[in-house]
Amino acid sequence: MTGALPAAGPPVVAALLGAIVGSFLNVCIYRLPRRRSVVWPASACPNCRRELSWYENVPVAGFVALRGRCRTCRQPIGWRYPIVEALTAIMFGAAWWYYGPGLLLASRLLLGCALIVLFAIDLEHQLLPNAITVPGVAAGFAFSFFTEPGWISSLLGILLGGGLLLAIAEAYYRLRREEGLGMGDVKMLAMVGAFIGWKLTLFTLMAASFSGTAIGLWLIVSRRGGMKSALPFGTFLAIGAAMAATVGPMFLDWYLGLW
Ligand SMILES: [Zn+2]
Repeated sequence: MTGALPAAGPPVVAALLGAIVGSFLNVCIYRLPRRRSVVWPASACPNCRRELSWYENVPVAGFVALRGRCRTCRQPIGWRYPIVEALTAIMFGAAWWYYGPGLLLASRLLLGCALIVLFAIDLEHQLLPNAITVPGVAAGFAFSFFTEPGWISSLLGILLGGGLLLAIAEAYYRLRREEGLGMGDVKMLAMVGAFIGWKLTLFTLMAASFSGTAIGLWLIVSRRGGMKSALPFGTFLAIGAAMAATVGPMFLDWYLGLW
């Protein structure tokens, strides 16, 4: 037995746990926008309503075993299911390896799960449910008393994240007479601010704007759609926040070093 194998054990166990959590995130993604309970009843096929048996609920493997179709009504199962499960598994494994066990790991995983759910719901429904963002602000602030970024930076992150987007939303509305950003985006960036603090909140907004602009331009240049068909901003906030929580501190060190 080499030394590397036992060291790989905990991240692998974390990844397996992540796959199970990912399966629950799929339930949230499907039910929250439909205002249904996420704990009851058991999962069923959205088409024929047949309740799923235990092996159909096994993350990723269930999808593979069924070859992507309901075994009763043959309705295709969305690719979102195995993708969310695999992504959450990778996130849990990588975060364990990167942060090590502790409160920071718990805080970052909770944020990551919220971001995955918000990303998927905003992409499909152009909606960022309060059921995720509002408790998210409270959870991020509570964690900040015991781990990064500390409660002062967390509080500033809530005010700055929410305040900046509120100001941008207001300015956009006055200029264009239509809603560009919703209150969901405001609450989402406040939540991100609570978890990662004010500096990385600025980074999140910057990274979200850059990736939003890049994809918007690509959509226009490739004639896949105009300005109006641009993706919802919450999806870019999720990408920006994920970048902030991982490469953000490195980028800030480098950027501030330039001065
Ligand atoms: Zn079915």
